[in-house]
Amino acid sequence: MFLVSLRGMTGQAIDHPEQIGVGSTLPLDKILSEVRRYWGYTSLRPHQEAAIRAGLEHRDSLVVLPTGGGKSLCYQVPPLLAERTDIVVSPLISLMKDQVDGLRACGYPAAALHSGLTPDERHNTLNDVVTGKHRLVFVAPERLMTSGFLSMLSRVDVRSFAIDEAHCISHWGHDFRPEYRQLSQLKQEFPRASIHAYTATATERVRRDIIEQLGLDEAALLVGTFDRPNLAYRVVARLDVNRQVLEVIRRHRDEAVIVYCISRKDTEALAEFLRVQKVKAAHYHAGMNADERRQTQEAFTNEELDVIVATVAFGMGIDRSNVRCVVHAAMPKSIEHYQQETGRAGRDGLEAECVLFYSFSDFARWKSLLTRSHEDAGAQAESLDAKLELLEHLRRYCQPFHCRHKHLSEYFGQVYEKANCRACDVCLNETPDMEDATVPAQMILSCVARTEERFGINHIVNVLRGGDTEMIRKWQHQNLSTYGLMRDTSRKSLLHMVNQLFDQSLLERTTDEYKTLRLNGASWEVMRGERNVRMLSLPEKPSRESRRETASWVGVDRPLFEELRSLRTQLARERGVPPYVVFNDATLRDMARRKPRTESAMLMIHGVGEQKLKNFGDCFMDCIDSFCQTHAADEESASDVLGSEPM
Ligand code: ADP
Repeated sequence: MFLVSLRGMTGQAIDHPEQIGVGSTLPLDKILSEVRRYWGYTSLRPHQEAAIRAGLEHRDSLVVLPTGGGKSLCYQVPPLLAERTDIVVSPLISLMKDQVDGLRACGYPAAALHSGLTPDERHNTLNDVVTGKHRLVFVAPERLMTSGFLSMLSRVDVRSFAIDEAHCISHWGHDFRPEYRQLSQLKQEFPRASIHAYTATATERVRRDIIEQLGLDEAALLVGTFDRPNLAYRVVARLDVNRQVLEVIRRHRDEAVIVYCISRKDTEALAEFLRVQKVKAAHYHAGMNADERRQTQEAFTNEELDVIVATVAFGMGIDRSNVRCVVHAAMPKSIEHYQQETGRAGRDGLEAECVLFYSFSDFARWKSLLTRSHEDAGAQAESLDAKLELLEHLRRYCQPFHCRHKHLSEYFGQVYEKANCRACDVCLNETPDMEDATVPAQMILSCVARTEERFGINHIVNVLRGGDTEMIRKWQHQNLSTYGLMRDTSRKSLLHMVNQLFDQSLLERTTDEYKTLRLNGASWEVMRGERNVRMLSLPEKPSRESRRETASWVGVDRPLFEELRSLRTQLARERGVPPYVVFNDATLRDMARRKPRTESAMLMIHGVGEQKLKNFGDCFMDCIDSFCQTHAADEESASDVLGSEPM
């Protein structure tokens, strides 16, 4: 558990979890029995108990947990136990719908009020709210703050508000929504109610802003660790991005993958390439109309599509919990963005992979994009500096000399104690150091010096590899001492080395159209032998069967898992809900491992509560039963054949 005191915040940090339990006499068993009954989970995750108790005690709270950390349960449990109706503020209709579908599938009384309802549905839902039928009602901030809605809530004496995605209230967040600002009136409107804010955003400035804007009073601050141990991070040099992305996707055959690109054009081209390679892929960006976007997102959620190739526009509304891989075909613009985007992988807690294809040119591209848009907007210099600094942090993250988990944790101000995370390319030894990288570095730099810092990367590579080009002949560079010095090094490797020299600021290039290579003080130190250089060999492919990635498959009967998965798709289609609303992948794997064939065995499966047992138990038990019988029959006939063979 990670409890953090936040300096200078107006809320009150909880340094001792028991502090929050004071006054709340409810035994933990009581909380757990509801969690087991509705969700089929047998324990609580870090901070959930404290957050639930804050909800029960009407103590304002700010709960900061990473994506997949289990924030929803924190506001779902208190109204069940207290038998009251709480309001959840949510920014998107799709998020509300998904949550309500998921809750109803567990037998939990919940509803959402939004513009997508018919007048009849709205009327009925409002009636249900007034009669106290629901434990949770989801609503967008702009609807909540209308005078009619506020007075209806006062009449039913609502005493608790959960603000989901609370960072949307802050200018400093990555998803600022002006509508959220209206929530600062909530405390005045409901002085007796408690407010509980939830976010995955790690920056202190945003947290402080949330507390101030919402006027949280003596708030309990519950801050979880930002590390996601189930994610394996890899940064790979980008050489032939289409092929490289395809390779990653093939490691995740039939699984959900999100690929992020910088531009809309890139998303379309890459999705097209993948489709030609028979991958079920589509692009997604803000230039598509609302209908196209909705259809693509739904196809992905409903598992009709495996891969979405998107710009950052594909974001908050995605609730598919079994995304097994998030690829960045190019460098995102900050670690915050990276954390958010990779946060969409492995929300079900199972292993997932995050691969960032990095090239030094991305850094330059972002720099010029940011500078240009900054100039167009006529903004102040400091704000550009701040953006460039964020970019620089990410560039440092991309360097292959430190554990990625540690780097991310420390960036967000948390200590990372493991010496080896076993879940990043660096700790898994997939980034092998070149032996004596100083010598090739000296050769490259000398070639730049000998050609008088007047040429671009291609020419330098051609000279070093002893090429026969018009330029070489024109400048008589075949007579240089560096000509052909790296004849045995592949073009790919050589480009990889030059990029690493840029990255380590041992070599520079002009920003004009010629992109001429230039030396700096550090380059001369290397050439004079005063400075050693570290570089990596070309990236090796990570093995799909590496121990980490298969850990959650231990004991799982994969053919049975696939059958359960098709059953899930079919049941979800019949009910018009996304498959994970029926059961998530962790539950299906547990079933395919333990093969429950009785109700009591089924209830022991992770994620099977009473309502889901009632709704789906028989179907899944039948499927397991017939699978086991067929397989027993197969095994018998196989042993018959073997047994009849002459010895
Ligand atoms: P967040 O909103 O923090 O991103 P969610 O609330 O969506 O995370 O939870 C992520 C997943 O973890 C969901 O599938 C949820 O049902 C599951 N989960 C939450 N709490 C627990 C728990 N105590 N035990 C097991 N699974 C849990």
